[in-house]
Amino acid sequence: MASTFDFASWPPSLTVDQLENLTLYATSYALSHGALYLPPAEPQPTVPSAAIHAPISLFPSPFPRQLYEQGRRIQRTYNVLYSRIAMDTEFLDKIMGAEEGVGKVDDFIGQLWRGWKKLRDAGLAQPLHLGLFRSDYLLHAPRNEPLSIKQVEFNTISVSFGGLSQKTSELHRQVYLLAATDYYNSSSYLKPDNFPSNDSIAGLAQGLAEAHKAYDVEGSRILFVVQSGERNVFDQRLLEYELLEKHSIRIIRQTFSELALSASVDPSTCVLRIARSPDLQPSGSIEISTVYFRAGYMPHDYPTPAHYDTRFLLESSKAIKCPTIALQLAGGKKVQEVLTQAGMLERFLSDEKKYGKNIASMQDIDELRASFMGMWGLDVSEDLLTPDYAAQAAGSEEFGVRKARDLAQSLVLKPQREGGVNNVYKESIPGFLDALAPQERQAWIAMELIDAPENAGNYLVRAGSTDSQSQTPVKTDVVSELGIFGWALFGGPDKSIDEREVGWLVRTKGKDSNEGGVATGFSVLDSLLLV
Ligand code: ADP
Ligand code: MG
Ligand code: MG
Repeated sequence: MASTFDFASWPPSLTVDQLENLTLYATSYALSHGALYLPPAEPQPTVPSAAIHAPISLFPSPFPRQLYEQGRRIQRTYNVLYSRIAMDTEFLDKIMGAEEGVGKVDDFIGQLWRGWKKLRDAGLAQPLHLGLFRSDYLLHAPRNEPLSIKQVEFNTISVSFGGLSQKTSELHRQVYLLAATDYYNSSSYLKPDNFPSNDSIAGLAQGLAEAHKAYDVEGSRILFVVQSGERNVFDQRLLEYELLEKHSIRIIRQTFSELALSASVDPSTCVLRIARSPDLQPSGSIEISTVYFRAGYMPHDYPTPAHYDTRFLLESSKAIKCPTIALQLAGGKKVQEVLTQAGMLERFLSDEKKYGKNIASMQDIDELRASFMGMWGLDVSEDLLTPDYAAQAAGSEEFGVRKARDLAQSLVLKPQREGGVNNVYKESIPGFLDALAPQERQAWIAMELIDAPENAGNYLVRAGSTDSQSQTPVKTDVVSELGIFGWALFGGPDKSIDEREVGWLVRTKGKDSNEGGVATGFSVLDSLLLV
């Protein structure tokens, strides 16, 4: 049965005193349990001595139970889909490559692709890939249509908040369970059954541990490649502690700049070793089983050619990469758009000749396809889906650009970038298109805007926002984005894909903000209340 929840009824109303008390419970819980960020500082101290609580919502956000379950279900298919894309070199060359694909016009993608091409021409030392994934969704609520979930994007590199999202779901549940508050019985939806569990820390750590196990060398460690100045370190540390405590796996954290001095790959064995880490013996070096990238997803991470060289050095080793360059390229927004084209899902999911018995049912494929919004490349010259429109729009401009102009109010344009703040929305689109050089069009996709319910509200609590006279957070109209985590280990000779769906994340932003990053300050961490 479709949910009939009235989003406008959220959040329940409380007195000022109650709100202040809830805020105290929530921030105390966050500060006590590691739902933390480093405070802004330039540069960050080498050894920090203070932290602030992560930005959080006071209430969990209502979400229809069956759509949450659908998101978890299709994650398994998405895990397989993106694993197969990463293994389809011919497809990635065509879509993302620097000879015919996006890499031709996008320098960052081109650099990564060229580095990968050179390495694979010489022969890759490690066939396995590890992906820690997050598929992001918004509720889609067009007038007169039932609610559905629509995919915003599929992330294949450096997916964050596996640590803090679990802490935030525990926070909301605890605030509920604390006898003193009970959210003051303010809504009949606030009951234990409606708080789904979330084991994203154990789940994502298990993915890393499986790769480490597959590498199978006693005494080796996992390398976390991190950004200097990173403030979201506790999210990463939670995975580190889980690896140590549950799997007895130790890790090393280093930046690309540090790795330029410390990393080496043995030319005959392709073993990756790290020397000169402060936590190693003065003369020792350590073998790396798995390289886990929490950096390297944007041009800013590669300020010099040497930084690319370091990335390629790691790629050339026989350590298992999370992700490989192939898997990073598979996560491009151009790939997401191409998947909406006829026959593409079938190519990866139901080609029995290629994948034998491991193919998806028509039902699984349809359910996955139902999560797509309409997308097209700005460089397309004709409409593959609705030829009528092409006839109407015939003019001097390429069809993709013309259509984006005409439908601008209901669109977002996206380049091949991660980390928020890169997209172009609605009324900014025509001016942007005027200025975009024709050869750049290949690097951009147009995507229909998801029509998220806008009448839900919440209280957003940011560190520093509650230390003034008024201790009560302000109610804001919000939009909530659900992320489902998964992992996949694949590429071995038997072609099998070991994969799991491993938890979720909710980020909530004020409805007037287009972009959604928590790290960029637009969003807060939130959790689910199933309705
Ligand atoms: P990034 O990889 O930079 O996170 P996204 O595709 O997730 O890029 O876009 C950033 C944000 O823009 C999303 O979190 C969401 O808030 C908003 N957004 C992106 N695509 C859409 C869409 N089709 N409809 C509505 N909002 C969108
Ligand atoms: Mg995103
Ligand atoms: Mg992204």
